[in-house]
Amino acid sequence: MGESHSVVTRLIDALKIKVSDLNYKNWFAKVAWDYQESTSTMTIAVESRFIRDWLSDHYLELIRFELLSLTDREHDVQFKIEKKIERTLDLFAENQNPVPQAIGNVTTPENREDQPQLSEARQRPSLPHQDTPQRSLNGAVTGFNPKYRLDNFIVGSANQLVFAACQAVAHQPGRSYNPLFIYGQVGLGKTHLLNAIGLEILKNNRHAKIIYTTGERFTNEVISAIRYNKMFEFRQKYRDQCDVLLIDDIQFIAGKDRTMEEFFHTFNALYEMRKQIVLTSDKMPREMLNLEDRLRSRFSWGLTVDVGTPDFETRMAILRRKADEEKVKIGDDILSFIAENITTNVRELEGAFIRLVAFASLTRMTLTVEVAKDVLKNILPQMDIRLDVEKIQHEVASFYRLKIADLKSKRRHKNLAVPRQIAMYLCKTHLQVSFPELGQRFGGKDHTTVMHAVQKIRGCLDTDATLKEDIQKISSLLGIVS
Ligand code: ADP
Ligand code: MG
Repeated sequence: MGESHSVVTRLIDALKIKVSDLNYKNWFAKVAWDYQESTSTMTIAVESRFIRDWLSDHYLELIRFELLSLTDREHDVQFKIEKKIERTLDLFAENQNPVPQAIGNVTTPENREDQPQLSEARQRPSLPHQDTPQRSLNGAVTGFNPKYRLDNFIVGSANQLVFAACQAVAHQPGRSYNPLFIYGQVGLGKTHLLNAIGLEILKNNRHAKIIYTTGERFTNEVISAIRYNKMFEFRQKYRDQCDVLLIDDIQFIAGKDRTMEEFFHTFNALYEMRKQIVLTSDKMPREMLNLEDRLRSRFSWGLTVDVGTPDFETRMAILRRKADEEKVKIGDDILSFIAENITTNVRELEGAFIRLVAFASLTRMTLTVEVAKDVLKNILPQMDIRLDVEKIQHEVASFYRLKIADLKSKRRHKNLAVPRQIAMYLCKTHLQVSFPELGQRFGGKDHTTVMHAVQKIRGCLDTDATLKEDIQKISSLLGIVS
């Protein structure tokens, strides 16, 4: 009890705030927490591999982050599987809902465990993600997540370059781009790609010595190597026993002088030996504050490429693949509703999908767009789900007594062109959609057409009173408060 008890209680409180009720009940209700203060380790006992993988994939970062904020210390978070879980605290009494049972085509953790048609990734004893690195044949640390592969990464216009670069590097490590520096915002697939490169290299060469780590773990290793006088071993590991170095979230080392120094020498040694280096970051090298210039310049020696935000079609493809993987039947109208409202983060896109599936399986309700709106409203209160491209098109068309098809057509008559431009303007102003995507949604037009339309309407607003008034009327019909 005492300190460890209160860390667990406070962690649970924090998780309850950050995780939606439903997800909390689904994933944390049957979990037992064991906190070992002396080793800064939190062990989480769960009932199945599936729950372990799920928690590890979706909540490990959050758990570590919360532990860090609660105690000001880094923690090791470990999972263990126990067939019968004794709940840590009675507090859980209110959360004893069972993990959902399957209905229809919806599969849930419990029945999934035994399904014969499991995907390859699930059949293999999966390697824990992030926490406890595994050792490959030759003893090099790997720790790959078998779910993040090149063959299940969906490629669209925004990420085709980065994908091609990853393929090239995976097939000819050290020979194409060195280093490969992948940057992009959170939730867009950087970790997926980095992991996939590692798996692919290992597939082609089982003896490849690959080190797959994160900027944070690298930093911790430097610190403990210094503290325990193990610099020699550290250098041997990173410089002499490494063919491929993959570091996720390298931005973490910025501002940490000793780590940057060590990384600099590691980089030089590997680079000279033509060993492949791949780094990911949430920022471009030149945007990374507190990064030494000599590192900044080295990061850009090879290829620097971003994982862009996927367009609507790519988001749909990701959701379809997810539905396939989870063996869930879900209508395209619902998928497109999700894809339309969650535009900037694939992790959130997947999260919304999972939430809907969990909801359907818990409540046994048939999913419709209406239901989806209701369910997602709670996890994404910031998004304006009252509006979407169709609604705007519909309202504009009916205001001008046109058909939606007229707005999507290529005809340029003024009676059509102006309403079309207004609709594009309203979409761009009130929804998070890119120009190319809007082009698609307006009958496959070029993104420059949409840009031009939006600029034109913006430009006319000050001078054209009728136009302004029309837009105000349509906006109020759409419930937009200006
Ligand atoms: P990041 O490291 O950039 O924050 P992740 O690699 O963790 O993002 O990706 C978040 C989630 O989205 C993962 O489950 C990943 O598999 C998925 N994902 C991202 N992009 C794609 C894509 N293009 N195709 C398939 N899955 C993707
Ligand atoms: Mg990542």
